[in-house]
Amino acid sequence: MIRKKRVQGRTALITGGAGFIGSHLCDRFLSEGWRVVCLDNLITGSLDNVRAHEKERRFDFVRHDISKPITLPGRIDAVLHFASPASPPDYLRYPIPTLKVGALGTHNALGIAKAKRSKFLLASTSEVYGDPLVSPQSESYWGNVNPVGPRGVYDEAKRYAEAITLAYHREHRLDTKIVRIFNTFGPRMRIEDGRVIPNFISQALRGEPMTLYGRGTQTRSYCYVSDLVEGIVRLLGRGPNAPVNIGNPNEMSVARLARLIRRLTGSDSRIVHRPLPVDDPKRRCPDIRLAQRYLKWRPQVELSRGLVRTIEYFKTRVDAGGRR
Ligand code: UDP
Repeated sequence: MIRKKRVQGRTALITGGAGFIGSHLCDRFLSEGWRVVCLDNLITGSLDNVRAHEKERRFDFVRHDISKPITLPGRIDAVLHFASPASPPDYLRYPIPTLKVGALGTHNALGIAKAKRSKFLLASTSEVYGDPLVSPQSESYWGNVNPVGPRGVYDEAKRYAEAITLAYHREHRLDTKIVRIFNTFGPRMRIEDGRVIPNFISQALRGEPMTLYGRGTQTRSYCYVSDLVEGIVRLLGRGPNAPVNIGNPNEMSVARLARLIRRLTGSDSRIVHRPLPVDDPKRRCPDIRLAQRYLKWRPQVELSRGLVRTIEYFKTRVDAGGRR
């Protein structure tokens, strides 16, 4: 890393900082006066997401895979560990890097936090609940995960990541936080990301068939990225060390989401059915009472409003030539 001129203020290390959520965190921390070290190996992230900060003195980019150890110079006040493929097609394409970044990458990121005596925040996931047998899912539910199924590479890596994070808290007295992120969407998701909202929006904008997996009765609830970022900032500041769900509790079927996106894009795309992926959770909805109580947080952006902003972003990408 070539460090730009010395700058004052607190420093955040954001692994996965060139990814969808990581890059929004970079924006937020920079806007609050922090110095940001953005670390990414760019397997699913993109420099386009952080291009706006290229000339910013308080921003440094380090191309590195956090699954391998790294020594960073200077003071670091907070480590936010967001590096990981997160879309099912991505973690199926990169099963071993996904396991490694959840296990070795979390270990290395915790090692940095321990050496620098900084706060540590782990990006965990609602996937730790697997295909849940209770709904909504509260943090006290231990989940229903198939460890050897195709999604196990992500689910178990994140479960391990939570375990080692709390071990560092207990053993090394590190101030650690764990956010369990439920489905999140917004600008900077890749067109070919493979998750449901990027798929439906890009298919609808191109007038291609919208691919509904299974009967479409499975449910999800979708949180706009600015709401998630606000929850993460509050969690880092004053949250408990135990995991906290951050997500939008507005649960709906995937079939209904398809119709909503078709209407908002003004598309006449057909809806076609495709096989349901193995171990696709039937229901997912966060219980956000902990976040409400400890962080005074609840989502503010209504689904349609968030979708309209996301559709505007995707229009510029689809027009610019499709896949990226
Ligand atoms: N899905 C779908 N069509 C798509 C992509 C996804 O019907 O083109 C479904 C998928 O089977 C799942 C839900 O949408 O039930 C959310 O999938 P996503 O990949 O966004 O993430 P997940 O919540 O499964 O991690």
